Amino acid sequence: MKCPLECCRALGLKTWLVVTAVGLGSIGWALADGWESGIQWPTPKLVTPGDAPGAPPADAVVLFDGTNLDAWDGGDQWIVENVYAISHGTGINTKESFGSCQLHLEFATPEKIEGSGQGRGNSGAYLMGKYEVQILDSYENETYVDGQCASIYKTMPPLVNACRKPGAWQTYDIVFDAPVFEGDKVVKPAYVTVFQNGILVQNHTELLGGTYWDEPPHYDAHAERLPLHLQFHGNPVRFRNIWIREIPPMVGKK
Ligand code: MG
Repeated sequence: MKCPLECCRALGLKTWLVVTAVGLGSIGWALADGWESGIQWPTPKLVTPGDAPGAPPADAVVLFDGTNLDAWDGGDQWIVENVYAISHGTGINTKESFGSCQLHLEFATPEKIEGSGQGRGNSGAYLMGKYEVQILDSYENETYVDGQCASIYKTMPPLVNACRKPGAWQTYDIVFDAPVFEGDKVVKPAYVTVFQNGILVQNHTELLGGTYWDEPPHYDAHAERLPLHLQFHGNPVRFRNIWIREIPPMVGKK
């Protein structure tokens, strides 16, 4: 059967193959000469992931692996049993200080429901000891929305309520960018992103300062690194598998 196109008949098969090869070669040449940013990036460090989802990667600082709370000031006040720790008597602070970080922790509010509102399964992860990601039993428990579980306390409610039932284990995966100060002035606010049980609940939320019950949020200049604080609010909240990673800088040269 003859080709219906005049061009094919005119060129012939050999000519068509040559033209096609030249065309493909031109595309390849164009790709090889692609755009470059001109920035020399360092090679990312190799980090071996944990053996299972939620397990600490190789470069994490393990703050609680189920055996003891030696990494915490005040940890001797809490109760450690069956690979978890129960908040008791006082808040606890890491002995080590951290700035911008990735934090993983697992918690369970009490299975036996007692109290209501802010009095039910209350604790909290205070980044740098100042910026609280609220922990609360918010499963069918009404309270002010900027104080419910996964809120940035009195700053921003969570995008959704991702709480499991009382007594069930839940996860927080938090990315925190520490604020930057020049003298007494904040020149870059803090930001926080939170996944609760794998669900995005805070999306790069700008912090307006430290979080307080009886004051509006505000910044007070502080050190580049400070301890992480876990709150004791009168309720026996359980914790397990807590680890933290400093966020490595990625700076290229022009
Ligand atoms: Mg709290």
